[in-house]
Amino acid sequence: MESSLNAARRAHDLDAARREVADLLVVGLGATGAGVALDAAARGLSVVAVDAHDLAFGTSRWSSKLIHGGLRYLASGKIGLARESAAERDVLLRHTAPHLVKAQPFLLPLTPAVTAATARKLMTGYRLGDVLRAAAGTPRKLVPGPSRLDPAGALDLVPALAADGLRGALRSYDGRVVDDARLVVALARTAAGHGARVLTRCRALGLAGDGAELRDELTGDAFTVRARAVVNATGVWAAGLAPEITLRPSRGTHLVLREGTLGPLKAAMHVPIPGESNRFLLVLPQSDGHVLVGLTDEPVEGPVPDVADVPDADVDFLLGTLNGVLAEPVSRDQVAGAHAGLRPLLDTGAGRTADLSRRHAVLRGEDGVVTVVGGKLTTYRRMAEDAVDAACPHARRSTTARLPLVGATRRGVRAPWRLVERYGSEAEDIAALIESNRALGAKVIPGGATTWAELVWAVRHEGALDEDDMLDRRTRIGLIAEDRRSALKVAHHVLSLEA
Ligand SMILES: Cc1cc2nc3c(=O)[nH]c(=O)nc-3n(C[C@H](O)[C@H](O)[C@H](O)COP(=O)(O)OP(=O)(O)OC[C@H]3O[C@@H](n4cnc5c(N)ncnc54)[C@H](O)[C@@H]3O)c2cc1C
Repeated sequence: MESSLNAARRAHDLDAARREVADLLVVGLGATGAGVALDAAARGLSVVAVDAHDLAFGTSRWSSKLIHGGLRYLASGKIGLARESAAERDVLLRHTAPHLVKAQPFLLPLTPAVTAATARKLMTGYRLGDVLRAAAGTPRKLVPGPSRLDPAGALDLVPALAADGLRGALRSYDGRVVDDARLVVALARTAAGHGARVLTRCRALGLAGDGAELRDELTGDAFTVRARAVVNATGVWAAGLAPEITLRPSRGTHLVLREGTLGPLKAAMHVPIPGESNRFLLVLPQSDGHVLVGLTDEPVEGPVPDVADVPDADVDFLLGTLNGVLAEPVSRDQVAGAHAGLRPLLDTGAGRTADLSRRHAVLRGEDGVVTVVGGKLTTYRRMAEDAVDAACPHARRSTTARLPLVGATRRGVRAPWRLVERYGSEAEDIAALIESNRALGAKVIPGGATTWAELVWAVRHEGALDEDDMLDRRTRIGLIAEDRRSALKVAHHVLSLEA
């Protein structure tokens, strides 16, 4: 079954979805919903999966892009969750998405603010993280163990650190996905390859145990889709379709710095947040050269917006914490972009949102609709498996732990490394596009890395229906507003050529 998504397939599948009765209707196409669609389709079920906007429109594209090995859960004694995280990291790294997920080195600078006792405690934590790695079966050569570096070693990896009083650093490794939105696209396409009808721009207006009222957001047409089971995977918007659930959204903000702002960066960083025992500022170099600096954890009240705003206070907090460990401070006008995502945390009656459970929940409403919410990007597959088990108890067992996603290989692919990292084996197809038409090798913005060919690919195969899809989710040019403005004309031109 062909995994390509595009406007023609959407029209065909929309028409079929209106006529058929699917085994499963999935609402929401973030990592969770796309994972549910794949899990069910791979079990041989007929699936319709819809999103009000686009693949990865919601929280999934605003993550820190870490594929956690479970360490953060150990600190709070959540052993089961820690093991699950390490196991899922192994699945992604070794079996399902080796092209998109790899190990990322992290440095924790031992500044005067980190006492010797704290440093010992943190090192013990990293060593326990290494035990989780081994228990999950991940070879050490894929995710190396932790080590301590002297000041020269620390400054070699991150020369921007303030050398004054630096006692060295702790080096550890965790997983990282090259782009969270691309993971979702790969999931949705792999599901489509197993026959799922993946429909973007279809909003669920109301759910029932045997289907949903939907609206085609491109035409305004309302219609019904019938299904034997329904899963609500709308993340932070889930309570709008399942009133029995209460969520306490929490805002996580990242800053975007242009390549070079922090000088050469050979590692990411965990920077202890003054006054907090188990929270760190993250400095995350991206493969396109940008650096993300995150992240906040602030409760958000009121209606859930489509895209969260970034308050000045978040920018001040992140810059202030970062500048606390740098030789030269980063100024506000060096911040090229900022974005926020909302964590879909279930209200458990606990105190701060930072303390709310990160575990996922699968809940069945009185109407029979199964809602899957919470969790992490890292554990999307387990969430999906649990949701399908609950919604379709007679289906055969999940196969996704060993099911490679579209493009899942890095080895032996003959294409530029940047493309291989983002497209896996399909990098060869993009390189071939450029080979057949040199003009497609041009860069979308001067000095950027993204080529016209990637925009063409997004429209032909990745379900991009407009410029927003192309710039904000298939590529991430839109992370910097200035770059987005200069790319818009090219995106529009490519779209008109492909129409
Ligand atoms: C700042 C931040 C950083 C994070 N970092 C990490 C990290 O590094 N690693 C990690 O593992 N996890 C991380 N997480 C957690 C992780 O990102 C989320 O748990 C996960 O992405 C949630 O995915 P989801 O599919 O459940 O929700 P979403 O991605 O929000 O998807 C829900 C989808 O439902 C759609 N929708 C909503 N209403 C409707 C409707 N009525 N009809 C149809 N569709 C609808 C939306 O358009 C959206 O696309 C982070 C979270 C945040 C906020």
